[in-house]
Amino acid sequence: METSVSLPLEQDLLDDVVAKDKDYAFLHGIIMRTRQDPNSSEVICYAPHVLLPSPVPKRLFQQAVDVQKDFNLLLHGVTHDSDFITSSLKSAIQVDEFTRKLYEIYEEVYVNGTPAQPIQLALLRADYMFDAARGKETPADEMKLRQIEINTIASSFAGLGSQVSDLHRYNLRNLCESKKAASLSENRALSGLAQGLVEAWKLYKCDRAAILFLIEDVSQNIFDQRWLEYEIHKINPTIHTMRRKFSDVINRAKTEGDKLVIDGYEIAIVYFRYGYMPNQYVSEKEWEARLMVEKSRAIKCPSISYHLAGTKKVQQELSRVGAVERFQKYFSDGEAAVKRIRETFAGLYTLDMGSEGDATVKMALTDPDKYVLKPQREGGGNNIFGKDITSTLKDIGEDERRAEYILMDRIQPAIVSNYQIRCWTTTELIDMVSELGIFGAIICLLRTKNTGFDDGGVAAGAAVLDSPYLV
Ligand code: ADP
Ligand code: MG
Ligand code: MG
Repeated sequence: METSVSLPLEQDLLDDVVAKDKDYAFLHGIIMRTRQDPNSSEVICYAPHVLLPSPVPKRLFQQAVDVQKDFNLLLHGVTHDSDFITSSLKSAIQVDEFTRKLYEIYEEVYVNGTPAQPIQLALLRADYMFDAARGKETPADEMKLRQIEINTIASSFAGLGSQVSDLHRYNLRNLCESKKAASLSENRALSGLAQGLVEAWKLYKCDRAAILFLIEDVSQNIFDQRWLEYEIHKINPTIHTMRRKFSDVINRAKTEGDKLVIDGYEIAIVYFRYGYMPNQYVSEKEWEARLMVEKSRAIKCPSISYHLAGTKKVQQELSRVGAVERFQKYFSDGEAAVKRIRETFAGLYTLDMGSEGDATVKMALTDPDKYVLKPQREGGGNNIFGKDITSTLKDIGEDERRAEYILMDRIQPAIVSNYQIRCWTTTELIDMVSELGIFGAIICLLRTKNTGFDDGGVAAGAAVLDSPYLV
């Protein structure tokens, strides 16, 4: 696919628009702390992003937006179905300690107990690629929307991503592409997520209670989170927000009855921007803190059931014949919703011990380039591709550790040429692939009829921030 401005740009023009782009990014908060000094706001740089919006087929963008509400409701259904969660994760939790520890909290609070807080809030980001099986030659109308995953915890870049649409509008105007600039769609991801947090805060029904952001020890991406704080305050300036690390929660949070209290504040919502990777639980104390939070009356974003519903294993189990259908009652147009959801699925295969898993191994070893091997991990950089699939599966052999993974069809995404703007790096035209992230928010009441709402916005970003230009 080509962006519509003719590329490459002449060097003088490029230098000019890039200089303007960088200053705009600074002045509009598309910034990050630096890798060298990740806990200091004394040194910052613009966040890595592309100069121009990437072309996204309108049809596929609309499909992704339209199916978001279905996915919100599907996950709502999954979180209410402990049999489904338990049977889906049965094999993985035997070999994956991290998932097991999450599951144990889930079991204690939701399966064997009654949670103190029936309200759940989830801020999701469903990620997609556009499958272009015929490479660069693939026309837009042959491309297919393929879901990579749904993130149910710490979905990031709504804050920075929302500003990137405006930056791209500005850049296009500087390239005399004002018609195109005017046609860029507005990105409402940030306001949607803030609205989700504020609505949940209201349902907690305590004006003095705060929203606690559980943050990383190393906060390079702090400004993405600050945007969300500011947006919350735009809606309601009286809501107290606070940023606390796991160590703060461990040392100073306590429960009074079932209320969660820290530093004199009752907590209405614990919004997790951390706690999704094993190395973030350095000792048993982090697990104890997570359990205390889960048991408390604070609304969790996400609850541990949504966290588990976002695992790769649950994603794979949902792709089985009949699995999405199991949740049909949650949709107003049951069969049609199931079809919309299924249409976004890539092939997903179990690696559980047994004949089905054996067949998956055989398939993967025959043509490893056609697949991605995925462990139960979040945060990028954990997946296994190509030859490494062969060596990993051979290493594991007949061991039960195989069930830590699932296998997925590898998407051949459309390639787009664009300029990457990265700190300390020369800006050159390079080939890239895009991943589209659609945000969704859902508030639900456990064990009562669902009262959900959703809001779809968009941001993209594993590597760099982008905005879609619909073609
Ligand atoms: P994580 O939760 O760590 O982000 P993902 O499933 O999103 O895990 O995978 C991380 C990255 O790997 C994706 O952003 C994408 O670039 C690549 N990837 C994942 N699944 C596929 C796939 N099926 N085909 C092609 N690339 C993939
Ligand atoms: Mg993820
Ligand atoms: Mg991902």
